[in-house]
Amino acid sequence: MEKIIDEKKQGEALELEQVSTNTRKLFIESYGCAMNFSDSEIVASIMANQGFNTTQNLEEADLVLVNTCSIRDKAEQTVRKRLEKYNAVKRDHNPKMKVGVLGCMAERLKTKFLEEEKIVDLVVGPDAYKDLPNLLAEVDEGRDAINVILSKEETYGDITPVRLNSNGVTAFVSITRGCDNMCTFCVVPFTRGRERSRDPQSIIQEVNDLWQRGFRDITLLGQNVDSYLWYGGGLKKDFEKASDMQKATSVNFSKLLELCAKAQPKMRIRFSTSNPQDLTLDVVETMAKYDNICNHIHLPVQSGSNRILKAMNRLHTREEYFELIDNIRRIIPDCAISQDMIVGFPTETEEDFQDTVSLMEYVKYNFGYMFTYSERPGTMAGRNMEDDVPEAIKKRRLQDIVDLQRAHSEIKTKEWLHKTVEVLVEKESKKSNTQWSGRTPQNIVCVFPKGQYKIGDFVQVKITDCTSATLIGEAVDYSKA
Ligand code: SF4
Repeated sequence: MEKIIDEKKQGEALELEQVSTNTRKLFIESYGCAMNFSDSEIVASIMANQGFNTTQNLEEADLVLVNTCSIRDKAEQTVRKRLEKYNAVKRDHNPKMKVGVLGCMAERLKTKFLEEEKIVDLVVGPDAYKDLPNLLAEVDEGRDAINVILSKEETYGDITPVRLNSNGVTAFVSITRGCDNMCTFCVVPFTRGRERSRDPQSIIQEVNDLWQRGFRDITLLGQNVDSYLWYGGGLKKDFEKASDMQKATSVNFSKLLELCAKAQPKMRIRFSTSNPQDLTLDVVETMAKYDNICNHIHLPVQSGSNRILKAMNRLHTREEYFELIDNIRRIIPDCAISQDMIVGFPTETEEDFQDTVSLMEYVKYNFGYMFTYSERPGTMAGRNMEDDVPEAIKKRRLQDIVDLQRAHSEIKTKEWLHKTVEVLVEKESKKSNTQWSGRTPQNIVCVFPKGQYKIGDFVQVKITDCTSATLIGEAVDYSKA
């Protein structure tokens, strides 16, 4: 596998991993969460062993794979629009092109996808990517192919991902798959199956390999990383049936974090996504113990109202959430905290919404992702709760918390003014090719003049100014060799 630098984007130095003997071309694009982007790197690796190199040119592709998201209706509409685009390219420029859909929408729709979208030749669910070579053989013989079986074991731990659109500095490392929390608005448990964790040895091996290859910042990835639990393989829910030996030698999330931090003491370790009902303080204490575990926790809460949290089947109250926030800030005072929030969940009143506002006022998040409720077919809420909050009210509530979050982000970012922070250089600043852009351990973007520094350097930067989301400064010295 050799690396080819994409000259066009020198500033970002995107690396395309190619096999010189491969002759077929794969165009792969991903939508949705980081899990999907990480899965696409697994798929690219499986396809590389089947004679495919990745291309960024749709018109020359033999195979087009789109990794789909189903979290909101809008995400699915985006995919349908892309399929129209592929249809036009196939008709006008590339009649041999085959099209496959991967990910959560493929798992949700299954054979309906083949019926509804004639351009689609291949439908593959998130746990069936190893079957791609067989499925492609069927497609090459002119038949449609599908595999949407969810697995109890699959973690793809034995596959080395092919890094796609990589800056060569930051990478995702997936550690768990699936989710057992049945939040009533969420399709993930239906599209990604039950929770299972990856062998810690294969995770450490990937971390060591990434360090050797120059990566300096990794994110341990899962729908719900806090419930990571390795006891020799199998579903999380079957842990109680494990032997005493398996239980005694099991590895939970705080142990895994410690193993990763010790394996590469200079590698930045991040993780996402946490769930307040599963995050335990031993994880926060492990973060405090190791300098290279970054002080940022993405801690979706979704609502500030106890009544709505109950209706969402989120197994904690706002008071318990406040206690967790207080403990995090007691153990790690400069820990950045970010959120996911949904407004307009069925039956949400103005009073419920004001509970969300007051929760945000209490926490003052560094940043967040905020959405209006989107009814998902097959979910508990989708089946049993009427989507009764008018669209206009949903939109107004969303705008209110977006504005509030921007004000809080400004307050939190300003806390770093006149301080010196460690920044890992990731790429050229979007605004100026004389400046580098990178992130602090708190996941805050920082830009500063390039000077003699290069991508992959850890740099001490004195903060002189900021916007609501970006720190601006001057480099004062290297941080870590
Ligand atoms: S924790 Fe809830 S919201 Fe998150 S993936 Fe699982 S079911 Fe979905």
